[in-house]
Amino acid sequence: MQRDHFTTTPPRCELCGEVIGVYEPLINVHTDGVHKSSRAADPGLSVGASGSLYHAACYERAPGDDALVDS
Ligand SMILES: [Zn+2]
Repeated sequence: MQRDHFTTTPPRCELCGEVIGVYEPLINVHTDGVHKSSRAADPGLSVGASGSLYHAACYERAPGDDALVDS
């Protein structure tokens, strides 16, 4: 499913491997903690976010030991 037609590489969810859309809620996990954001709200995440990026929905579904959102 790799589509590398873009000049800038959009961030991908580390759980499902799909591109995270500009307006999709995302979860950024890095050493400072867990942040809920979106690329629209935080354009810096598009170009070189530190840590890991996930779709918010994927993150909530993941059996994380550091779950942000209770299900
Ligand atoms: Zn995902």
